[in-house]
Amino acid sequence: MTRKEILGNVRKILVKVGSAVLTGEDGLDLNIIEQLVSDISALKEKGYQVVLVSSGAIASGKHRMGIPGKLKSIPQKQAAAAVGQGRLMRVYSNAFGKHGLFVGQVLLTMSDITDRKRYLNIRNTLFTLLDWGVITIINENDTVAVDEIKFGDNDHLAAMVANIIEAHLVINLTSTEGLYDRNPNDSKKAKLIPLVPEITPEIEAAATEKATSVGMGGMKSKIMAAKKVTASGVPYIVAPGRRPAVLQEIMEGKEIGTLFLPMAEHLNSRKYWIAFTLRSRGRILIDDGAKEALVWDGKSLLPSGVTQVEGDFTLGDPVTCVDAAGCQIAKGIVNYSADEIRKIMGLKSSKIEQVLGYKDYDEVIHRDNLAVTVGQGGKTKT
Ligand code: GLU
Repeated sequence: MTRKEILGNVRKILVKVGSAVLTGEDGLDLNIIEQLVSDISALKEKGYQVVLVSSGAIASGKHRMGIPGKLKSIPQKQAAAAVGQGRLMRVYSNAFGKHGLFVGQVLLTMSDITDRKRYLNIRNTLFTLLDWGVITIINENDTVAVDEIKFGDNDHLAAMVANIIEAHLVINLTSTEGLYDRNPNDSKKAKLIPLVPEITPEIEAAATEKATSVGMGGMKSKIMAAKKVTASGVPYIVAPGRRPAVLQEIMEGKEIGTLFLPMAEHLNSRKYWIAFTLRSRGRILIDDGAKEALVWDGKSLLPSGVTQVEGDFTLGDPVTCVDAAGCQIAKGIVNYSADEIRKIMGLKSSKIEQVLGYKDYDEVIHRDNLAVTVGQGGKTKT
């Protein structure tokens, strides 16, 4: 498959941009921001939906306060973010305004998305903003985040948001050209890797831990994020953020940066179709036991593993299965309607007839109609 084919069905894009792209010696680089904003606006014009995860708050705040060198303490970083986040949004708001677009700000911590209610609220808000055609700009809520509730870096945050908004593609705009086979700062022989079909230990080894002086992530965290995103069946591109019209060129199919292919390459074509072509009509929340049975044991989804049903779907509809943390695990064709599953969830299959008055199937989704979209995470089963 060519890049053009892989990106052909993409409509909803999550763009992540790092501090090292957005800031220079003089704080926020307004020219780069204008350039990025024009690029995103052009994509919107072409009918794409774009959500932006933007760093740059701490770097901008630090510059505004005229603090030389590194920020020393966590309160200093959090205070710098408080100053910088407002500035960042004002710059984006002005820049998008020139293209007739409104912006919305969403600041998140990890605990916001691990809490089911808050997660659903965030999801509804983000989908509403998408419907309204607003450019949503997301950052970590740095002023309140402490270690336990932190995403840690915006690469991770972007991977989570991609899952929440059900993005079709993630583009991570960085200060390098993409992933190299070794650290380009240490070796002149370093070569850009244009395509990563699978994230192997060699690929992980190619990425260095070291972040730039302004960002938090570094290439290692981009690989970790790519692992999550590709495992949910979404392609991931690391690309040079300072290149003019980089987003438009990527969407035209140009070989820019590094493309990580979605893990679904391993699904057979019917399951690939279920996973990536069909539009999900609802969501089934499953418990940890069912998740293990689906991901590890190649089993079907039974009513006993279902904890909640969202949406109004009917027999034969494609539905997404999500785990307790809200992560998409699988997509499949259901044997029962949403209302029927609500009645039989949590029960043994032998009880189906008693509750519904009939039983056509033992399974809510049969294995043959189920595409698991996460990997086994390199864990060994105990
Ligand atoms: N949230 C931080 C900021 O806006 C950046 C985090 C990162 O660089 O990954 O400054």
